[in-house]
Amino acid sequence: MSGNSEWNRRGDGVLANTYARMSATMVRGSGCILVDADDREYLDFVAGIAVCNLGHCHPAVTAAICAQAGKLVHVSNLYHSQPQIELAELLVANTFAQRVFFCNSGAEANEAAIKLARKAGPVGKHEIISLSGSFHGRTLATLAATGQTRFHQGFAPLPQGFVHAPFGDIEGLENLIGPATCAVLCEPLQGESGVRPLTTEYLKAIRQLCDHHRLLLIFDEIQVGMGRTGTLLAHEQLGVVPDILTLAKGLANGLPMGAMLAREEVAAAFTPGSHATTFGGNPVVAAAALATARTILAPNFLSTVRARGRYLADGLAQLVRRYPAKLEEVRGRGLIQGLVLREEFRPAGLSIIKHLFAQGLLLSFAGGTTLRFLPPLVVSAAEIDRALLLVAAAFSELLSS
Ligand SMILES: *Cc1c(COP(=O)(O)O)cnc(C)c1O
Repeated sequence: MSGNSEWNRRGDGVLANTYARMSATMVRGSGCILVDADDREYLDFVAGIAVCNLGHCHPAVTAAICAQAGKLVHVSNLYHSQPQIELAELLVANTFAQRVFFCNSGAEANEAAIKLARKAGPVGKHEIISLSGSFHGRTLATLAATGQTRFHQGFAPLPQGFVHAPFGDIEGLENLIGPATCAVLCEPLQGESGVRPLTTEYLKAIRQLCDHHRLLLIFDEIQVGMGRTGTLLAHEQLGVVPDILTLAKGLANGLPMGAMLAREEVAAAFTPGSHATTFGGNPVVAAAALATARTILAPNFLSTVRARGRYLADGLAQLVRRYPAKLEEVRGRGLIQGLVLREEFRPAGLSIIKHLFAQGLLLSFAGGTTLRFLPPLVVSAAEIDRALLLVAAAFSELLSS
């Protein structure tokens, strides 16, 4: 029977060289635990990059996928299908939105949002302001919206109509508003650039600017939506409501799905033929998403996420107090938390991740600055304790050497 090294070698021999993968071929998972081809167990605080919010192979989601796969897998959007309708109804009932467009990824959800924002405004208004440090996807338009030039290199010319405001600087944003501006696009908390929450005051000021200049406000909640911060959507805690919102990652707990949600008046700019996708909202992914959303919205689920989030944040704050020379701060909301390394320690970030991987803890390194903690939302206090112990042990080991 072939194990890890054999599978890793075969994969490296044929797959596009787009990822610096860890040397493990994962074969199964349950809850917060993954198992590789050598039968090694890992405590997973990556969750497929904020995707498997209910943990691996959650029974309700697996049952929904299996049942739907035996009934109807795909019909296209030339027809209605039941899971898609039920899911849209659930999202509309639990959010600011009245209309939902389903697609297959985060980048596609943002593409839909960008197209809707351009079409919904007066002719000629097409420019979108996003923030420096943002991440909105890898398609050409979402790459142009992404406020990190390192992702742009080698892909010129990028689509026009995107400008980036300096993070946290409301005046800098206002200065960019011109006659062609149609929308502001931002993440309520920037995940990829190092778990950077936007303050409530900042988001409120952005909303006010949008209202004053008649711009649409688009929230990219692809990473922080679907319960990650302790409410179904992250912005619910911030008292700022967008006009358009995008979801993906955790939406179907691992099946590829994105969604764009919008207010009725804004969504009305899309008419038959405006936008489309063949697979979007197909019955199997929609059934998985429906089971996921129902689980998240069940009584006590989100309050437990908030409690676990505080528990994790408290534990990380203790680490910051214990290693003040290496750690700057802990920041995040709910169960997306970041441990920010001090500048001198940042080059060691990836080796910390690799060391922890060898110890059986999966973490990711975000923005070149921050150890990012994204456990499944079903993580137990004991699993958080175990992760914190492993991280503390890694620090003391790396510090003494
Ligand atoms: C992951 C992510 C995206 C892109 O989603 P894909 O499914 O990889 O296309 C966009 N925005 C944010 C905030 C993300 O975290």
